[in-house]
Parts: sequence; structure tokens; C-alpha cells
Amino acid sequence: MNVKERAMRAPTIELRDVVKVYGSGPAGVRALDRVSLAVAPGEFVAISGPSASGKSTLLHLAGGLDGPTSGTVTVGGEDLAHLRPAELARVRRRQVGYVFQRYNLVASLTAVENVMLPLEFGGMPTRQARGAAVAAIERVGISRPFDRFPDDLSGGERQRVAIARAIAGDRDAILADEPTGALDTITGDLVIELLAELAAAGTSIVLVTHEPRFATWADRVVFMRDGRIVDESVAAAPPSPPAEPPVEVLSP
Ligand code: ADP
Ligand code: MG
Repeated sequence: MNVKERAMRAPTIELRDVVKVYGSGPAGVRALDRVSLAVAPGEFVAISGPSASGKSTLLHLAGGLDGPTSGTVTVGGEDLAHLRPAELARVRRRQVGYVFQRYNLVASLTAVENVMLPLEFGGMPTRQARGAAVAAIERVGISRPFDRFPDDLSGGERQRVAIARAIAGDRDAILADEPTGALDTITGDLVIELLAELAAAGTSIVLVTHEPRFATWADRVVFMRDGRIVDESVAAAPPSPPAEPPVEVLSP
């Protein structure tokens, strides 16, 4: 999706003047201090900044896992503060997907069952959830992990299953918090490349990362410090793929 097409569509996720204070009184921590950020459909935003600058807090709020102290968070045009609990649960399970540094896969469930889990929690019938899970796993480019358990997968494969879980059921946005933190450089690059492909196909991506090189894949890099957005740079050129995509590392 090009810049002009994106600009014509409403943001997938929007934070407006968001403040988040943990605790209260003198011990309170102002994790976000009047943060505003809009992520367009198909846009790939990378968030960078030092530890404790509020990056994870921003993702939690963007996905409705926690609410702001003040300001508004909208997903798909809906103000999350105005949603009933069941509607908020639907946003968390069907519209926005999470990818964490530690894959958070359930060890006793196979890859396909892990991907099905949130869909079934979200009320999707088992048969349909299985179909959506298989489609999502195929999209992340793993050949046949369907009935393997997380312990039998490589780190890169596990993170791809986690991404499949995050996109299953055609979600509008993926929020990824340092998803390459536990991966080697080559495998990490493949994960980011996959996120870029998903963005190109219309999914909004918000990536928290310490790795400056990932900026080349993002449409925009947002820098945070002390709970504030201090700088934004818009990529001058479209993201380019790495010189030699080493696809073979994903083979079992
Ligand atoms: P980052 O992801 O950039 O490292 P975080 O969003 O995790 O930053 O944290 C921002 C600030 O908020 C830090 O000072 C952190 O200690 C504090 N913080 C984060 N989560 C909580 C919490 N659940 N309770 C209290 N303080 C928190
Ligand atoms: Mg963090």
C-alpha cells in the first residue's frame, strides 16, 4: 500500500494525548506523558528508545491490555474506553495480535493448536479456527509445523508460529514487542521481513525494537524517551529486502 492510499484511510490504531501513570502519589511512575500516535492501515511503525522509556506501555495501551490514565486510544475508530468488557475482549482477540520476545506458546499444544487458541476463545467454531490457523501458518512460511510441539521447533519457527497466532483470523494490526530479542541476526531479519510483507498486504505493524537496522524495513521510526515521543523519521525510500534472503535456515 503506498503512502497516498494509506493517508486516505482512517488509522487502525490511534493514541491521542495519552498519559499513563502507574501507582499514585509521589511513588507514581509517569510511563507515558501525552503521547499521540496514529498508525495507518498497512503502515509499519518501528518504536525505538532506551529501556523504561514507555515502549511496552504504549503497546499494551494500543492493544487494549490496559487503559490510559487520560487521553484516548481508538482501534478501528472505536474508543476503547467506551467499549463493554465483551467488546474489548473481541478487540484483543480478533482485531489486534501480539508478538512478544518470549514466544508465549503453550508447550502442551501443537503449533496449529496454539494458533487456534485465541480464535476459539474469541468464539470461533473449532473447524473454522483450524482452517484460519492453517492459513496463517502457511502465510508465515513454515512448511509443516502443524502438529509439532513448540519444543520441537527452532527459535525462528517458534517466533513464526507466534506471528501466525497474531495474524490468524485476519487481524488489522500486529503489536510486536522486541520479537527478535531471543533470535540470531539472520533469523531475526527474516521475522522482520515477514512483518514487512504483512504490512505490504495491509496489516498495520507496530514494532518495538532496539535494533537500528530494522528501521530500513519500517515506513516510520518513532523514538521515545521518558514517556514521550521525541523524534519521528519517515523513511525516504521504500523498504528494501536484505541482499541474500537465507531461506534455508528455517528448514528443520
Ligand atoms: P520500555 O518498554 O521502554 O522498557 P516500559 O513501558 O516497560 O518501558 O516502562 C516504562 C516505565 O513504567 C518504567 O519506569 C517502568 O518501570 C514502569 N512500569 C511499567 N510497567 C509497570 C507496572 N505494571 N507497574 C509499575 N510501573 C511500571
Ligand atoms: Mg519493554
